[in-house]
Formats: sequence, structure tokens, C-alpha cells
Amino acid sequence: MKFYPEHYKIKDQRMKPFIDPEEIWDFINNTKPTKERVREVIAKSLNKERLNLEETAALINATDPELVEEIKQGAKDLKTKVYGNRIVLFAPLYVGNKCTNNCKYCGFRATNKDAVRQTLSDQELIKEVEALEDNGQKRLILVYGEHKHYSPEFIAENVKTVYNVKKGNGEIRRVNINAAPLEIDGFRTVKEAGIGTYQVFQETYHPEEYKKYHLGGKKRDFDYRLTSLDRAQEAGLDDVGIGALFGLYDWRYEVLAMVRHTNHFEACYNVGPHTLSFPRIQDASAIDVDPKYMVNDDDFVKLIAILRLAVPYTGMILTARESQQVRREVMAFGVSQIDGGTKIELGSYKETQNEVQNLNREQFAISDNRSLAEIIDELIENEYLPSFCTACYRLGRTGEHFMEFSVPGFIKRFCTPNAILTLAEYIEDYATPETGEKAWKIIDKEIKGLDNEKVVGQLNERIGKIKNGERDMYF
Ligand code: SAM
Ligand code: SF4
Repeated sequence: MKFYPEHYKIKDQRMKPFIDPEEIWDFINNTKPTKERVREVIAKSLNKERLNLEETAALINATDPELVEEIKQGAKDLKTKVYGNRIVLFAPLYVGNKCTNNCKYCGFRATNKDAVRQTLSDQELIKEVEALEDNGQKRLILVYGEHKHYSPEFIAENVKTVYNVKKGNGEIRRVNINAAPLEIDGFRTVKEAGIGTYQVFQETYHPEEYKKYHLGGKKRDFDYRLTSLDRAQEAGLDDVGIGALFGLYDWRYEVLAMVRHTNHFEACYNVGPHTLSFPRIQDASAIDVDPKYMVNDDDFVKLIAILRLAVPYTGMILTARESQQVRREVMAFGVSQIDGGTKIELGSYKETQNEVQNLNREQFAISDNRSLAEIIDELIENEYLPSFCTACYRLGRTGEHFMEFSVPGFIKRFCTPNAILTLAEYIEDYATPETGEKAWKIIDKEIKGLDNEKVVGQLNERIGKIKNGERDMYF
């Protein structure tokens, strides 16, 4: 096997492609997953150290059921250590589905003449945000196709519009974006509008396979997409989200490539990605994808556990593409954020009835159609602490200046108290009495787990203020 030391600091350059398929396959083909090695790697990760490619490959190659169980248990333990019981909630808001690209897996692809094309007007956008606020949402991700209409200025205007919508006690406190890659100036424009994270998924990190799925439009350029979040960093946007669309190519390759992408950011910008996403392909109108690389549920759990161990400090997002059963199962292995009450048909949040899914109006089919209230209720039943916290980014705790686990006691000092405050607001404003009762019990239990008396005192005082109608307090 070729020897690749972790020399990316010398090798990698800003805004230059960094993926070498041969290097990635070498690690997969030549790393031996002996019991001792796999256990050493899990122990390193539990020490909150990021894994290198060889170490990640050892986990990927482990197939002995006993070792796979140890990997999953390691991920569970690490998640509890790094994130506690918190699960952060958000909702996607599709703003426009016009698209000039031709991605073979997507219902919005330009050649899909059955797709109903729509871009929300300002008024429609406001109505959607009001409906989301009425459900208790505080964090949104705006989603767009790739089209000249969706310029950085257009997106920035949308972001400002969303932040200005206040209904009752409702407000959106963090707007993230999932849209086409921008130039540096474009990223600057959206950053100035106050966005949180900018997500761009590479879909597949294999350049040749990539060409097979992306038949036309700007997205066909693999390298331009690969370096897009470098341009975001250049613009000072240091909360970026990466991802691969699982089912396009071998999952083992994509997992290693995501770790390689993390290495690249660290080498060039001294910061890892803010979040990892690992969507699995769902049915879509006009989809044309060979099922050969589809990822089964067992491998899906394993890959989530491996990603958790490989990059211990990065948020991991699991969406409503997955069924409620799968979400319940895999959440324990490292997921830190989920969407709730998701509707991806444009303009559908304002509808009170859950319409039957119409694939011609959606990018793909979602599997978990439950309301935010139902999801929160289930989280509480399973002893998770639902959180709508937005404190860090609003206080400038982002990027290299901030990695939550690197600050001793950070979770107990900031994250858990903030999760509790946002849950208390949710109970007061939106929860049913039954959910509220259970949620207060979870809050009591979480407060008992905090050891800093001063923080507990401040927290109880703030909960009292929330009960008296004050909102938006954070540590
Ligand atoms: N148009 C922008 C782009 O392509 O980057 C915005 C992203 S797209 C609206 C959001 C993501 O959905 C894509 O990056 C892709 O990973 C995912 N996606 C597309 N088709 C999908 C499908 N059939 N099933 C699951 N996820 C899909
Ligand atoms: Fe367009 Fe994005 Fe769909 Fe590709 S994945 S067709 S770029 S909306």
C-alpha cells in the first residue's frame, strides 16, 4: 500500500481540487481491520480526536459483527459525551424549484417537464414562515434549485424577509441555505444577510461517476462544486455543511471522501465543516438511477456511526427522507439535528391538511410526514432534549474560534441550558398540555444533571421569566 501520511497541510491549496480517487481506494483496499486496530481507533475517537483516513478505513472495513457492535456503541458513547441528550430541530423551506441542471436523481431536473415550477413571492414566503412559526419552528433552511433567478441578492432578500416575519411569540432566529455554489462575492452577500450555515452537497465525490449523474448545466463541473465551500470560507462564511447523496456510488468511498473534505478544510482554513449530511436517495419524478449502490439499513447505521467517530465535533443531520422507524433507530448513533414537521411541496406549510404527496411538485418523496408536535413528543418520550438553540451563531461563536467540545464544560455551561430555555418557550407557546407536562419533567431531570450552581440559578430565574412572557434569553 502506498503510504500517505497526514500531510495535507503541505499538499492542499485553497480553492484547488483535493480528491484523489486512487488514494481513497488505496485506503479501503489495503487497511486491515484487526480487532486490536479497530479498538484502538474507537478509543482514539472517544478521546475526541478526529480520525485520519487510514483509521476511518479500518472502521469501514470491519465486518465482524462483534466489532460492528463496538463501533456502534462507541458512536453512542461519543454522542452522549459531545452532545448530551440534545437534538436540535429545524425545518426545510423550499423557495424555488426552477433549475437549469440535469441531475438524474432529482425531480427538479431541467428535463423533467412534469415538474410544476414555482418560486414563492414575498407574500407567499411570509405566509409560509408564519405557518412555520405557528408550529414553533425557530430554525429554517431555505432550499433552491439552480437558476439565474436565485441570485445571491435574491437569496439575501429572502433571508431578510424571513427574519422580519414575527407572528405572536414566533420568530425565525437562524436561516441556513441549501442552494447552488456561489462565487466569493455571492457568499459575502448572503453572509451579510445574516445566514447561519451554507450547505452544498458534493452528491458523489467520485469525479467519473459524478459525470454520469450530472448531465447538464453548471453542476456538471465537479471541481467547481468541490471547491465551492472553499469560496465560502474565503468570503468569511465559516459555517459550512458538506454531504454526499448515498446511493450514487460505493458508500465506503463517500464516507472516506467526506473525511478527506474535512482534512482539506482543516489544512487550508483551520476549521472543519459545521455539519455533515448523508441523505439516501428517495423516489423522485423522472428519477433515473441504477439501484446498484443503494445503501441498506444496516450499512446506513454503520456509516453514520463511523462518521460520528471520524469527526467527533461536527454536527450530523438526519432528514425526513428517512422513515420514522429508521430515524428513531439511527438517531442514537451520532445524529445531532433533525427536521420536524417537514413539507417539501412548495407553498404547502400554510395548508392545514396534509395533502397526498405529489411527486411532480416535490424534489423527492419524504418518508417521515409527522408534525413537529408529534416529533417533539416522541423525542421527549425517548428522553431526548429537543432544542431550538441559536445562541452560538448569534454570539459569533462560529468557525475556528469555536468548537464546542474544545471548551471544557461547554455543554453544561451553554448547550444544555440553552436547549432547556428554548424548550421552555416551546412548551409555553405551542405544546399540548400532555406534551408540556412530560417536557417539564425532562427539563427537571436535565437541570439536576448540571453541576454549576450559578448556572442553575440563572437558568431557573430565566425559566421564571419565560413563564411570565419574556422570550429569547440565552447563554
Ligand atoms: N439545487 C441545489 C443543489 O443541487 O445543490 C440545492 C440542493 S437540492 C434542492 C438539495 C439536495 O437534495 C441535493 O444536494 C441532493 O443531495 C438531494 N437530493 C436530490 N435528489 C434527491 C433524491 N431523489 N433523494 C434524496 N435526496 C435528493
Ligand atoms: Fe437542480 Fe439541485 Fe435538483 Fe440538481 S439537485 S436538478 S441542481 S435542484
